[in-house]
Amino acid sequence: MNPSETIIGIDLGTTFSLVAYVDERGPHVIRDETGEARLPSVIGVLPDPDGGRPRLTIGWPARNHAVEHPETTVYSIKRLIGKGIDELRAELPFLAYSVMPGPRHTVPVEIDGRRYTPEEISSIILQELKRRAEEHLGRAVRRAVITVPAYFDDSQRQATRDAARAAGLDVVRIINEPTAAALAYGIGIRQALQQQSPCAPESRGTSLLQVAPCPTSGSDGTRADAAPTQTVAVYDLGGGTFDISILRIESGVFQVLSTAGDTRLGGDDFDREIIKLVQHEVREQFGLSIESPTTKQALRGLAEAVKIRLSEQDAARIELDLGQDRLYRRQIGRDEFERLCDPLVARTIALCRSAAEDAGLAIDRIDQVILVGGSTRMPLVRRRVGETFGRTPYTALNPDEVVAIGAAMQASVLAGSPLDMLLLDVTPLSLGIETMGGAVSKLILKNTTIPCRATEQFTTFVDGQTAIKLNVLQGERELARDCRSLGEFELRDIPPMPAGMPKVEVEFLIDANGILNVSARELRSGRQAGIQIVPSHGLTREEVERIERESIARARDDIDEHRRIDLVNQVEFDTNKAEQMLAKVGHLLDAGEAARIRADIAALRKLAAETRDLDQLHRALDAFGKGTLHLAELGIREALKDGGEAEAPTARAPRDNVKT
Ligand code: AMP
Repeated sequence: MNPSETIIGIDLGTTFSLVAYVDERGPHVIRDETGEARLPSVIGVLPDPDGGRPRLTIGWPARNHAVEHPETTVYSIKRLIGKGIDELRAELPFLAYSVMPGPRHTVPVEIDGRRYTPEEISSIILQELKRRAEEHLGRAVRRAVITVPAYFDDSQRQATRDAARAAGLDVVRIINEPTAAALAYGIGIRQALQQQSPCAPESRGTSLLQVAPCPTSGSDGTRADAAPTQTVAVYDLGGGTFDISILRIESGVFQVLSTAGDTRLGGDDFDREIIKLVQHEVREQFGLSIESPTTKQALRGLAEAVKIRLSEQDAARIELDLGQDRLYRRQIGRDEFERLCDPLVARTIALCRSAAEDAGLAIDRIDQVILVGGSTRMPLVRRRVGETFGRTPYTALNPDEVVAIGAAMQASVLAGSPLDMLLLDVTPLSLGIETMGGAVSKLILKNTTIPCRATEQFTTFVDGQTAIKLNVLQGERELARDCRSLGEFELRDIPPMPAGMPKVEVEFLIDANGILNVSARELRSGRQAGIQIVPSHGLTREEVERIERESIARARDDIDEHRRIDLVNQVEFDTNKAEQMLAKVGHLLDAGEAARIRADIAALRKLAAETRDLDQLHRALDAFGKGTLHLAELGIREALKDGGEAEAPTARAPRDNVKT
């Protein structure tokens, strides 16, 4: 791609807007200096005291301005764009600013006697996104792909185009938000690339809008891709709106089969459940009603923070200073919060069912489910969506950023960029996890054809260990420090057991879209945890080649180091076990044997710490095993007598987990 020709992808959202682009490493969302990618879609108007042109604030400052000056802050302009006054009657009661019928079917916003059309307001937001992109890329940006909801009609789409033109952006394509979400996960990208711009029209209708597939541009005149038809549900739950869209992707054509939604249902409603609970209890305990705007505002902030904490933790504290030494304080558990929110989530699920029905599909036969919007971070939402569709939804990408990423992917396709790392049929590099001592256990080797699946069993290294950290790695080297970490997660609440007893099955599953699901399950207790990753993001072909070259050049040293780590771990594991057995059944040995074993333990540990001769260490470990056989037998016999399970006498040794 000619670097001067970067086409940006823009998610022009009701509450937040984002801008992204794709380079040879994959997609990137552009962030501000604080690392924040979301620009609030809010404009604050500050009147000029001398009667000149008013000053505008955009984004976060405007959002803060809204707290004190709601009447001079414009937000949610997307709800107005391209609509006539008659279509907006239901919206008007929710807006703090005033709108009025304008010329040519427009509905301008009036602030301090000055009128702004929704296109003008949107164009100010788009200008700011363009400015950010230019600053980040260090060059002018002229072209963009912009996303809109699937249900937007022609007039809303045209108004969005007009806003972009006013911002100095040429819109190369408007795409539907759910289509962007699917593209972000690589769904349909290959076909989209092969079909290119004229042949993959964007359908806009709300249901069953048929778009005929068209011949591909393949030089031999054949259809370029025979990828199977896929159906995708995009579940988008933001702060104030819910949308469900069902798509069919066939021969590079994204067809919107159906959409449903609720324009007044989202994260704010979950916050409101906490607010209602606190208001009720404050009234009961203190006889107070929380009415002042500042306390209300504080309560809103508090409720959202508690909600977000409950997405991570099982419980959260709520504390509200009511003044005059009155402090309201309580703890809320995730289960209690989920009971309050369940009816709201149930409403989204009912809409999913009706969208599936409209699309003529059985809900559990839809191929993929993608989660979009900040509120889909809630475990309750993920659980209910998973149960309803009968599959684990796609969550690997940040749900706030997925639409912007998809817009950037479409932009990249239109710019004719290679996107080659995103389109491989094989894993370009091996995938595995870090094990004890910083070694790598590879589960899927490079060049494995996808889809693919691999499982391996691990165990714990320390007695009573109740958590295992899993670091998912990509690379060819033998040590974790030389590989790329794709993500980490923790398997928690394993019942305490002796080291080596838990059986942790780790599964790596790469589906046909190249999305990696890693799960870990402790088989005795059934506890499980997992993570989802898009392993192809962030890699270039040159890097893959460099990694391959390095792994070949360092192979000998790497293998030796891996073997050393394994042996040292095994020494630690075996000597610890021997010490425990001595403590338990040492009295059954004669004094000489017990003393000899103690000396052997010390000698083996010293050797492991000092020697570089791995064969010598291996032989010493074998000899130690033989020398403690009698002790191990006594230990097992004693354990069986106690009615307990015999402990696995030895195991191979990884990080805080041990491969068995
Ligand atoms: P969006 O409109 O997609 O940016 O979504 C914003 C909504 O997501 C707000 O209601 C946030 O409170 C909510 N949200 C963001 N992060 C979390 C989280 N970790 N858990 C629950 N809700 C969240």
